[in-house]
Amino acid sequence: MSSQILLPRIMQIGADATQEIANVLASIGCHRPLIVTDKMMVELGYVAKITQCLAPQGIQSDIFDETVPEPTVASIEDGVAMARDGVAMARDGEYDCIIALGGGSPIDSAKAISILAKYGGEMKDYRFPRQVTEQGLPVIAVPTTAGTGSEVTRFTVITDESNDEKMLCVGLGFIPVAALVDYKLTLSLPSRITADTGIDALTHAIEAYVSKKANPYSDSQAIAAMKLLAPNLRTSYHQGDNHQARETMMLGATLAGIAFSSASVALVHGMSRPIGAFFHVPHGLSNAMLLPAVTAFSIPGAPARYADCARAMGIADAGDSEQEANQKLLAELHALNHELAVPTPEQFGIKREDFMALTTTMAQQALASGSPANNPVEPSVDEMVSIYQGLWQ
Ligand code: NAD
Repeated sequence: MSSQILLPRIMQIGADATQEIANVLASIGCHRPLIVTDKMMVELGYVAKITQCLAPQGIQSDIFDETVPEPTVASIEDGVAMARDGVAMARDGEYDCIIALGGGSPIDSAKAISILAKYGGEMKDYRFPRQVTEQGLPVIAVPTTAGTGSEVTRFTVITDESNDEKMLCVGLGFIPVAALVDYKLTLSLPSRITADTGIDALTHAIEAYVSKKANPYSDSQAIAAMKLLAPNLRTSYHQGDNHQARETMMLGATLAGIAFSSASVALVHGMSRPIGAFFHVPHGLSNAMLLPAVTAFSIPGAPARYADCARAMGIADAGDSEQEANQKLLAELHALNHELAVPTPEQFGIKREDFMALTTTMAQQALASGSPANNPVEPSVDEMVSIYQGLWQ
């Protein structure tokens, strides 16, 4: 059996990779970018960093900085309006590409805008199970969190605010043409976002490795990612200015993205999206809340694979039995959440009665996303409901 691997055409990885932006644009024949970003990136001077690299090469750019965390349909429509105006104003190829600068939210926004600006329609027309193979405006992704891996994945996640649903959209059309992975942009991340996005990356690596769609290529990337991420997550959380830890986390997050773009994610992500959509919990945090409980539920379906994860993370060794390694894995995931101060839903401020009233709806949404079907133990709606309920114990 063979596996299809989809990747960006260019990956520029390492300190100051951002400074290569003009060269990357030149090598893909683009010269009129729209920068899709958020206001924080303007404030931090990262947008200026990009425009200062472009201007000396005569590359003029415009900025759409209205993306929102966990992007919504309305925010995408605003971006599409700007991208289309630019395209319509001068039919000489104005906005011939999009530079996506920021965390997963601006990058996912840019991917959605790239398709909708060129092909029209509504975001929901492009949701899973449709495979989006259309090629929109080329996206050059510049991540500023070490988390989502969106810079290399074939996914975008957009919230439909009319029914509080995080829509998963999938396909070749969502893979950025280039990714500039510059860890220096993550040095400004506050510890909370470092933790949330770091656990997101670790979850990607674990879920890719235990996924029913795992393959030898995704395994190699997932194991490499776990080796990089696990020992550096605590360091980057406690010492945000530690360059070595930041660099390693950034590379690990991108490798984890490559792994799950091929093998898909599983139950943690499936159950996490509805928590984010209904209760506005940031994506990495809702993953972190679920990771220990979902891992405990899933180990019986792939005990050897989870033991490999424990060994790759450096918390079990070759001498440990499968069972010992899995016990160590569970203990580590709980310890990590404790040390990184991951709140429970209650500590996050969610009301117990509001959460309990939605557990069945959330489980049904999770099932419809397709992700739970990749899990080593395929859950029923009732089993997912009981995992959700368990988050309150
Ligand atoms: P984010 O992009 O929502 O950013 C979170 C906050 O951190 C924002 O306020 C942002 O301005 C700030 N921030 C970002 N970089 C910073 C920096 N370097 N310094 C200081 N502040 C910074 O967070 P995220 O976790 O990267 O992205 C989450 C989104 O990504 C969710 O919508 C999630 O569904 C999506 N996602 C997509 C994929 C994919 O494959 N497409 C995978 C996982 C998650």
